[in-house]
Amino acid sequence: MQEHKSGNQHYTPKILVVDDEMRIREGCQEILNQEGFEVSTADSGKKGLEMIAREHFDIVLLDLMMPEISGLDVLPEVKSSHPDTVVIVITGYATIEHSIEAMKAGAFDFIPKPFSPEQLKVVVSKAIEYTRALQDIAKEKSRRRGLINRLSDGVMATDDQERVVLANPAFMKMINFRGEKVIGHTVKSFINKPKLLDMIDKALSMPLDKFVELIEEIHFGGNGDMEETVLNAHCTPFRDRTGLNLGTITVLHDITALKKIDRMKSDFVSMVSHEIRSPMNSVLMQLKVILDGLAGEVSEKQAEILNRASKKINSLVEMASELLDLAKIESGLITLEKEAVQFNELLEEQCVFQQESAAAKNITIHFETTSDLPPVSANRQNMEEVISNLITNAIQYSPDGGTIDLAVTLENGYLCIHVKDTGLGMPAEDLERIFDRFYRVKNERTRYITGTGLGLPIVKKIIQAHHGTIRVESVEGQGSVFRVYIPHLTE
Ligand code: ADP
Repeated sequence: MQEHKSGNQHYTPKILVVDDEMRIREGCQEILNQEGFEVSTADSGKKGLEMIAREHFDIVLLDLMMPEISGLDVLPEVKSSHPDTVVIVITGYATIEHSIEAMKAGAFDFIPKPFSPEQLKVVVSKAIEYTRALQDIAKEKSRRRGLINRLSDGVMATDDQERVVLANPAFMKMINFRGEKVIGHTVKSFINKPKLLDMIDKALSMPLDKFVELIEEIHFGGNGDMEETVLNAHCTPFRDRTGLNLGTITVLHDITALKKIDRMKSDFVSMVSHEIRSPMNSVLMQLKVILDGLAGEVSEKQAEILNRASKKINSLVEMASELLDLAKIESGLITLEKEAVQFNELLEEQCVFQQESAAAKNITIHFETTSDLPPVSANRQNMEEVISNLITNAIQYSPDGGTIDLAVTLENGYLCIHVKDTGLGMPAEDLERIFDRFYRVKNERTRYITGTGLGLPIVKKIIQAHHGTIRVESVEGQGSVFRVYIPHLTE
């Protein structure tokens, strides 16, 4: 018997012909057998119903005009007990109204008597295609459900009214919800995290010309009721072909363990840096005592060696201080004391401070003040550190005789500070990484420039703590421009 393919599985569709006319029953059976179907027959509505109760048929060919139980009586029973079974009604010319009635009652198609083998084959193959599509959809649905339910990440989808259409067990566990069903309910009825609800609102109202993934860190528990968990929440809208928002998808990823490790690492680094700094400083002092000749005469050669040693120790002390700074910023200690900072003033001051080291390399610093700059709520000392770091780098990574241009502009509620140099520049592949700890661009030209690779990570952390961003553009051999964006007070 010929097999029909559906998805990956082979199966032989089962057909039942219910007709009181022997000629039709046997004719249909023969034609359909030849097509490779498994065909059973029943000579009355009653017998047909008995067979349907015993086994499942993919297709039922049902004569409408039969004595006792008619096709119209059989049809609703089939539809209620086997909703997936496709019913094709066989009708006489005189019963066209009945066939319309049968279609309304859920028949898939009808075939008027007398019909040719070809007509029968066409109707049946259409029905087979339909059942196959239904089976594929059902299989796909259950596969998707199984997959989503087994994910360790929490997944939830909503419609455009913020009603839940899908939420896996991991999602419910992560938001600590132990109630009954949530499908069909609005997210506000069971999620009590304003940050998460806000993301869903924002994703749903995202304009057509924009598609961004909203990302937030959300804390749950930690109130005695449940251990604190830190979740990374990603939320995006999903759209139809015209770009209309149909709903949202939220994915939660548990990063509690990562956060703990990160904190432990920071604590360890700050402990070690702290412990290293004091003995280093005392070694420096002792070297200075020797260098100053207080412990006896020092030859030129000895002084040279001791000077080199002091330089190395100085860089270690500097690195320990920067690591401590970074640890402090990461623990969230720096955003506490903010004041209204005027960037025109701050940049001018920094220009003056850096003038001497710039002049030593014959570098000129230009600063164009902008009138009517709004103040920015920021930690002054940290902002000084950001600007000073960027200017120091611009000087350090420029050959003699370059220019540094500083400017401040206003862009969409942000204050933008530009630090532009005509220095060494950087290859494109390094630009992504220069904000990573200890990352330094390594080539012939930077080889003799000393540094820790911690300046830009500190700069970036400070800016992030002020809800801002930093961007860099650079062309190797021509120069770089760093742009710092900080939201200003009036926003
Ligand atoms: P450091 O200067 O101590 O090495 P940073 O974190 O400040 O550390 O900078 C990381 C790297 O980025 C530097 O080593 C340098 O290669 C590159 N860099 C930073 N600023 C500039 C600049 N203005 N021009 C060219 N390269 C730069």
